[in-house]
Amino acid sequence: MSGISTALGEIRSTLPQGVELVAVSKFHPADAVREAYDAGQRIFGESRINELCDKITALPDDIQWHFIGHLQTNKVRRLVGTRRIALIESIDSERLLRLVDEESARAGIVSRVLLQVHVAREETKFGFLPDEMLDFFRRRAFDSLKATHICGIMGMASNTDDTTRVAADFRLIADIKKQIDALCPDLRGFDILSMGMSHDYQLAVEAGSTHVRIGTAIFGERR
Ligand SMILES: *Cc1c(COP(=O)(O)O)cnc(C)c1O
Repeated sequence: MSGISTALGEIRSTLPQGVELVAVSKFHPADAVREAYDAGQRIFGESRINELCDKITALPDDIQWHFIGHLQTNKVRRLVGTRRIALIESIDSERLLRLVDEESARAGIVSRVLLQVHVAREETKFGFLPDEMLDFFRRRAFDSLKATHICGIMGMASNTDDTTRVAADFRLIADIKKQIDALCPDLRGFDILSMGMSHDYQLAVEAGSTHVRIGTAIFGERR
């Protein structure tokens, strides 16, 4: 067995039933994705458009591609235009959401997306602030979307060894999801709580994550 399939097996054995594994293959070659695919993995996460498009061409059609990186507005048409993205996890502003909606309508598809919430202090500057996200749902700003379905939220914990802090960040993200559920009880298909990476996914799962995004622990260090 290769290192990739062994790692996949080990990680899967630790995930509770119903928690989906997104194998983050960014910066790793298509051969590595193929190895994971042959070991039964079907959901892969990528963060750069060119690399993703190359892999879409090179790899089987039943792969579910998740886009997890910062999406620049000038790349939206190309991404949506592939018609191959199962989930855009990293919608980090209302402006980007509107753009994805427009391009999806133009392409004649419905895009499935997650809104990214920003709770970690220093890490990434991207994402809705918690209050901003709650306000978005309080205003029912999703009602006017034509071709986009918001399937849940995505977040990252602070990048620190302080597990108390990391666990608190995950609980906060999970709590924001619950607050949205309470604000909009009629939301349908708003089920995904995507949080947890190689070094912290166990804590994320304990806090209620439904999707963990794991790269390094499967594929090794990125080059
Ligand atoms: C790269 C990345 C991951 C995977 O990180 P690992 O530490 O390699 O598991 C998960 N989520 C996002 C948003 C990423 O950019």
